[in-house]
Amino acid sequence: MLGQSSQITFLGTGTSVGVPVIGCNCEVCMSQDSKNKRLRSSIYVELAGISFLIDAGPDIRQQSLRAGLTQLDAVLITHIHTDHIAGFDDLRAFCWRREIPLPIYSHQETLEKLSKTFHWGFGDTPYPGYLSVEANSVTKTFQLSPQVQVTPLLVEHGSVVTYGYRVDCFHHDLKIQSWAYISDVKNISTQTLEKMQNLDLLIIDGLRWVEHPSHFNIEQAITLIDQLALPQAYLTHISHEVEHNDLLSQLPDYIKPAYDGLTVKLVKNNE
Ligand SMILES: [Zn+2]
Ligand SMILES: [Zn+2]
Ligand SMILES: [Zn+2]
Repeated sequence: MLGQSSQITFLGTGTSVGVPVIGCNCEVCMSQDSKNKRLRSSIYVELAGISFLIDAGPDIRQQSLRAGLTQLDAVLITHIHTDHIAGFDDLRAFCWRREIPLPIYSHQETLEKLSKTFHWGFGDTPYPGYLSVEANSVTKTFQLSPQVQVTPLLVEHGSVVTYGYRVDCFHHDLKIQSWAYISDVKNISTQTLEKMQNLDLLIIDGLRWVEHPSHFNIEQAITLIDQLALPQAYLTHISHEVEHNDLLSQLPDYIKPAYDGLTVKLVKNNE
């Protein structure tokens, strides 16, 4: 039994500076609507008895407390930009409750940079009470658990190696068995697009309306969603140039802007 708890929780849906932006008095930054308050992008996934994070940015402590997280079995890191890794050391609290190091998965280059920045958490002799992780370099599909399969999706985003992740769990209790999360992307190769076939759900970078040198704008996100004929998609990594309800009203009904605290149930409704 998968229980009721197979779900994705959006811990943060904001771009690198978060929303509101420090010192900005634009309409979105001044908005009282909680859906316009975006911490840095990250998701927490509970699936088939395990739980994992994708990214641990500077807000991860606050996000973990807000979502009431107690359990963490693994962390997938997309890329080395600060808004995705700055809170890495705060994962130490999860390490205290574990017998063995916390497994981290990413591209080799990302792991090397991460291990330089947070060197005390890596290696065979971690300091007691601090971060203690096991680095796993991945390029191909791997089993995160016997039931959960993950495929790294290499994408173009600025000058750093960047992954999105596809997650598959072929359990009959699930209505969403195959989904992908790509928070930061400017371009996707045909090789990666081939790995994105037959998804039930896509969570994708939809930074703003205006084009950006290293991110999808909203139009590019919609184009990809339609190209893949996806039944359901959420936009994330959203800037202060986008007002939640305004964006919602302009999207087709199968695409929605994600917001902090949103949970997407992966299990069938009647189970
Ligand atoms: Zn980012
Ligand atoms: Zn603003
Ligand atoms: Zn980035």
